[in-house]
Amino acid sequence: MNSLNCFRCNCPLQFAGSPRSAAKAVRNQPNDGLVFRSYGNYGSTFFDPMRESAYLEIAICDGCMRAQPEHFLASEGARDSYE
Ligand SMILES: [Zn+2]
Repeated sequence: MNSLNCFRCNCPLQFAGSPRSAAKAVRNQPNDGLVFRSYGNYGSTFFDPMRESAYLEIAICDGCMRAQPEHFLASEGARDSYE
């Protein structure tokens, strides 16, 4: 069972949960990756539904995160929590 592929490099990401939990609706929980969810953004011409029940979700592999540290923001409390 796979999670979504990495949004940036398209590498396949394996589902981190048990096969039993993969059968449920939520399966975008990758090993070696992070999940990002957006409920839209004022200013987007692609997605701004203005409904809390509507969202888009992607996965990005840890390698892509490490390769592009200048492409994300980290809160002060998060800066010493990733490698
Ligand atoms: Zn990647």
